Amino acid sequence: MPEELEHVKCLIIGSGPAGYTAAIYAARADMKPVLYTGMLAGGQLTQTTDVDNFPGYPNGILGPEMMEDLRKQAERFGTDIRFGYVSSVDFSALPHKVVIDEVKTILCDTVIISTGASAKWLGLESEQKYNGFGVSACAVCDGFFFRGQDVAIVGAGDTAAEEATYLAKLCRKVYMLVRRDEFRASKAMVHRVQHTKNIEIIYNTETTEILGNETGVTGVRTLNNKTQQERILDVTGFFVAIGHTPNTEIFKGWIKMDATGYIITHPDSTQTNVEGVFACGDAQDHIYRQAVTAAGTGCMAALEAERYLAAKEHIVTA
Ligand code: NDP
Repeated sequence: MPEELEHVKCLIIGSGPAGYTAAIYAARADMKPVLYTGMLAGGQLTQTTDVDNFPGYPNGILGPEMMEDLRKQAERFGTDIRFGYVSSVDFSALPHKVVIDEVKTILCDTVIISTGASAKWLGLESEQKYNGFGVSACAVCDGFFFRGQDVAIVGAGDTAAEEATYLAKLCRKVYMLVRRDEFRASKAMVHRVQHTKNIEIIYNTETTEILGNETGVTGVRTLNNKTQQERILDVTGFFVAIGHTPNTEIFKGWIKMDATGYIITHPDSTQTNVEGVFACGDAQDHIYRQAVTAAGTGCMAALEAERYLAAKEHIVTA
């Protein structure tokens, strides 16, 4: 006889602030959620150090500690948290089918996608070495630690432009490293960057090495790709703002996404194009990308999943 498939009311995919918040709400609504953590349990925040902008922590908190707190809170209300990754899905019919680690299939009445996004990195060894020690992919998260100091930021899109002006308010000087002779960012953003006194834009320039010692970053080695001239910038912070990749590959073909892979949800909602499937956090938000906004949409997803199930039960029993 074939083995009976596990059937869950609510499956949550991902363990960042969005996933854990969805789990807290779903568990408290007695949806008995099962949450799969993905390969990086706790998500992007486990790779940062201090988090000073999440409300409720007057003295700040370490990213990994905050995620541990969120996990415990989700568990406290009975979320079944499992280590594993979703390898494929089949959203062609209800209940939805979700395959875990390529072997186990789960039938789900509702699915909450909270798989997040991953920052793109330059791929330098020294960048990895000083990650969290002066190298960051989030100016809003970490800019504060470089108040009054000189920093560099790489990238030329809207994110880089926005983050450079954010950093310029805090730092003494911001070097903006642009690899071509022009920006990709919108005209308005470029205008703002160009008219900020303490931002120096360096065009046609690539980063070849992050320099540092036991205290963290001390400089950046750059190369002008037109003149081949090398330059060393004395900075204590290095920000990478060359884009993010939403972790949504496995949903391609089932869920509507924009050209860069961000999940498209209905306006003011986390509802995707597939009935019973909701998306929250950085997998569907390319604008704010903050822990607190991810938590907010995680809450929305759980409430919407609960209402969806309640409406269905009403129809079945009516
Ligand atoms: P983008 O993909 O738009 O830009 C990435 C930038 O990084 C490009 O300028 C690119 O250079 C540069 N880059 C990529 N790889 C490297 C590398 N290895 N070395 C140096 N530079 C590199 O990403 P964003 O995150 O900026 O924006 C994503 C989307 O979000 C966009 O649609 C943007 O408009 C939107 N957004 C909107 C905002 C707003 O409206 N307020 C704020 C932030 C983002 P190159 O140009 O040479 O390819």
